[in-house]
Amino acid sequence: MSPGSPADALVLCYHAVSPTWPAALSVTPEQFGRQVGRVLSSGYDPVTFAAAVQARPGEKVVAFTFDDAYRSVLEQAHPVLDRAGAPATVFVPTAHAGTPRPMAWPGIEHWLGGRHERELVPLQWPELSDLAAAGWEIGSHTQTHPRLTTLDDEGLRQELVASRETCEQRLGQACPSIAYPYGDVDDRVAHAAEQAGYRFGAALPGSPRAHDPLRYPRVGIYHRDRRWRFEAKVSRPLRRARSSAWTGPALEAAISRSKFPL
Ligand SMILES: [Zn+2]
Repeated sequence: MSPGSPADALVLCYHAVSPTWPAALSVTPEQFGRQVGRVLSSGYDPVTFAAAVQARPGEKVVAFTFDDAYRSVLEQAHPVLDRAGAPATVFVPTAHAGTPRPMAWPGIEHWLGGRHERELVPLQWPELSDLAAAGWEIGSHTQTHPRLTTLDDEGLRQELVASRETCEQRLGQACPSIAYPYGDVDDRVAHAAEQAGYRFGAALPGSPRAHDPLRYPRVGIYHRDRRWRFEAKVSRPLRRARSSAWTGPALEAAISRSKFPL
């Protein structure tokens, strides 16, 4: 493997952890606890996203990352990780964090008004500050959670710069990491992120630039990823194949059609 290959560091992308929310982006506390135990008992050392991207070749590290800053990250995931002595990373949409209002954007807004609406309420800044003090990394997830590739240059710059500045002002520390909403990143967006002061960017699988720290591939874990599906997703051979320019696109297409036995 080449230096710093993504297959050496396992970066998992979660969203919410809830015993009752049936959303695809939410896993149950039991499911999450099993997955954390499985990974850590396999010898992975838990680190933040920024540390995982900078891991040395052959270093067996895992980063548990959470997009969107749902309250359940603190209420359900944090106790599990705390017991395991593992830090994690939360990527925060800064225009939403700190408000009492449920978050809403395409993909989650259909949960508004129903009995699971409370799941959409974001963490507050003092809570994020406490997590940072406990060793967690707090990164940007832009301001308003747009598809960044659809924005013009000025809109893109605003989302990237303002969210980094808000994180830094609220938490009193540098914010070198960003997760692109929907994993939506291309060359222009990655370059703009670098210009905006980021060093590390969290993407999703299928990135043609698997070795670029500003487009670092993560493994998305969802409601249906139980047992052998989870095992398959975190396996090193499959992660290598998914990040390969040769086999990655075909594998991604098969996975998206659910014809691949994940
Ligand atoms: Zn998101």
